[in-house]
Amino acid sequence: MKIIHELEKCIGCGSCVAVCPANWEIGEDGKAHILGEKNNIVNGNEELETEQIGCNQDAADICPVQCIKIIKK
Ligand code: SF4
Repeated sequence: MKIIHELEKCIGCGSCVAVCPANWEIGEDGKAHILGEKNNIVNGNEELETEQIGCNQDAADICPVQCIKIIKK
């Protein structure tokens, strides 16, 4: 599956980090970022290919601006 984070929409509220600290952090730019070695920037969005959804669904569900997308293949 793929986790996509639309950076432009992120308001840096920290809710994703609160529910999923293993996978998310707030960066120096005040926006959330996906933790992970294979994290790529594609068209301004962060993308991470992963087999483990872990708590990312909770992060996507709680995000107030819905900028975390989970694409299941
Ligand atoms: S919950 Fe959404 S808006 Fe808030 S910091 Fe995380 S990704 Fe950004």
